[in-house]
Amino acid sequence: MPMPCYMTPCAIMLTLMCAHEVSAAGGASSYAEERAEMVIRQIADRGVRDERVLDAMRRVPRHEFVPDNEKRYAYRDTPLPIGEGQTISQPYIVALMTELAQPDKSHRVLEIGTGSGYQAAILAEIVQHVYTIEIEADLAQRATEVLRKLGYENVTVRTGDGYAGWAEHAPFDIIIVTAAPDHIPQPLIDQLKPGGRMVAPVGPTFATQELRVLEKDATGKVSSKGVAPVRFVPLRRQQ
Ligand code: SAH
Repeated sequence: MPMPCYMTPCAIMLTLMCAHEVSAAGGASSYAEERAEMVIRQIADRGVRDERVLDAMRRVPRHEFVPDNEKRYAYRDTPLPIGEGQTISQPYIVALMTELAQPDKSHRVLEIGTGSGYQAAILAEIVQHVYTIEIEADLAQRATEVLRKLGYENVTVRTGDGYAGWAEHAPFDIIIVTAAPDHIPQPLIDQLKPGGRMVAPVGPTFATQELRVLEKDATGKVSSKGVAPVRFVPLRRQQ
């Protein structure tokens, strides 16, 4: 025999409201859960060990840095389009580059290729200040807005061609290049502090490049080594 239904309209309303609250809270916590899972499976399991990097990757809400129609893919193991034909890098690559740079809380960092602002936010969680340059004005503006909304007061974004670096704020402890030049720009080498490190993908446009780590020792001598094959959008030059 079917059970009689005693639900009053009021009880039905209450049930619907509760259901809504549960799904709203569920949505918010599922981003955090996806992020925790991303850090374990995509980053720690692949060998990134620096706790400060892992913590930063756990804290920064990557979904805030991607367009609305990409948010549900924000924690996937892949780069994503961010408009203007550009991409936010795969989470693992962001973590790897950050770890290779060996960031510390006293550091002042230059990033070339702000894009979404996500890599800048990861760095800003760890270091004193991040200066970041983006050649596309629309992207620079969007990144500025999201970084401000999330409260990152230690990031300065500027529109321009990052090939020449940012002489007013040089020298930098770390320089991270997130678009691929075919050679490491000399102005960036000049703006690196003795004892500093640069992490940059170097190689031909639209082919596999090599992620390189360049070190400048205390005497100013420069050495560099290749670390991994990567694929980045090209570093473009302003005419
Ligand atoms: N770091 C970004 C991803 C960068 S994608 C993030 O976390 O989302 C590379 C970015 O470099 C693109 O936004 C591209 O417009 C920018 N770019 C290309 N050439 C540049 C140049 N010469 N100077 C500054 N930015 C440049």
